[in-house]
Amino acid sequence: MSEKTLNTPSDEYLVEVRDLKKWFPVQTSFIDQMFSKQLDYVRAVDGVSFKIRRGEVLGLAGESGSGKTTIGRVTIGLEEKTEGEVYFDGMDISALGSEDLRKLRRRMQVIFQDPLASLNPRMSLGEAIMQGLKIHYPESAEQHRDIALEMMEKVGLTPARFYFNKFPHQISGGQRQRVVIARALITKPDLVLADEPIAMADVSVRALLLDLMIQLKKEFNLTYLFITHDLATAKYICDQIGILYLGRIAEMGDLRDVYSVPLHPYTQALLAAVPVPDPHERRTQPMPKGEIPNPIRPPSGCRFHPRCPFAQDICSQEEPQLRELLPGHQVACHFAEDFMK
Ligand code: SF4
Repeated sequence: MSEKTLNTPSDEYLVEVRDLKKWFPVQTSFIDQMFSKQLDYVRAVDGVSFKIRRGEVLGLAGESGSGKTTIGRVTIGLEEKTEGEVYFDGMDISALGSEDLRKLRRRMQVIFQDPLASLNPRMSLGEAIMQGLKIHYPESAEQHRDIALEMMEKVGLTPARFYFNKFPHQISGGQRQRVVIARALITKPDLVLADEPIAMADVSVRALLLDLMIQLKKEFNLTYLFITHDLATAKYICDQIGILYLGRIAEMGDLRDVYSVPLHPYTQALLAAVPVPDPHERRTQPMPKGEIPNPIRPPSGCRFHPRCPFAQDICSQEEPQLRELLPGHQVACHFAEDFMK
C-alpha cells in the first residue's frame, strides 16, 4: 500500500476532497458527432471541496441532479474523477494502482439506497454478508460464518441463525436494509458512504435504522459520508452539512449553524420545505421556482439565479465564490451578509 504523501491533510481528517470535478460526456448520434466540433459534458460535479473529520458524519444534501451521489462514488473510488484531488487517510486515491485500491476498499464501504437491487436474489443473507470477508480475508474462511452471525445480531437480525439461510425476498424492506448495513460493516471499514440509506424504507422503520446507524458508528468508530435529499433526516444524524446545487456547494458548515442561520437562499428554501409538526406555523420563505437547470449548460453567474427570489443583476453575471462568513460556515452568495442581519 502506498505511504502517505506530502501535501496531504492532517491526521484530524479521514477524507479531504479538493476542487473535485466529474463530467460525463453526452452520448450523441454519429451524425451529430460529424457536425459538432465540441463534445458536450454533463457537469455532475463542478469544483467541490470538503473535509471529513474522523468519527464525524458529513451530510451532502440537495435535490436530485445536484451531484451528491456522484461525489460520494468518486470519493470512495467507485468512479474516476475528471479533475481535482481525493485523499483518504492521507493517500491520494487516484495515485493508487488497482491492487492497492482493491485493498483500500475494505476500509471504504457503501450502504446503497435500494437494498433489493443491491442484494443478489439467489444468494442467502448469510452468504451476502460474508462476501466482503471472502474477498478481503480468504485466509480465515473457517471464521467467516461466526463473524457474519455476530454482525447480524448487532444489526438486529435476531436470532441470526434464523435469518442466515433466508433469501432477500423472504424478509421485509427494513430487514433487507439491515442486511445491507451488516454487509457494509463486516470488513470493519473506517468510512461508510451511506447513499440515501433510508429512502426506500417504510416511514415506521426509518428512525430505527438511523438509530442503528448512530449506534454502530459509536461501536465501530465509523465516519459517514451521508447522502440525502431530506434535510430532516440529515438533522437527525449529521454533524456537518454541505448543501449542493447543480454540482457546486452553495453552503457548508456545522449542521446546527447552517440550520439556525441559513445564509444561502437555496438552503433557506429547502429548510422551509421541511414539514413542521405544528399546523399553526406559517412559512415565510418562497420555495425555489422551477426545476434544477440543465447541468450541460449551467446558468451564467450564480447557478441558482433563475430560481432565486433575491436575484439581482450581478447574480447572472458573476459567479459567487464560497466564502467563510462565520467560523466554519461557508456560503456562495453575493448577498449572504444581508441574511445575517
Ligand atoms: Fe440568489 Fe444572487 Fe445569492 Fe445567487 S448570488 S443565491 S442569485 S442572491
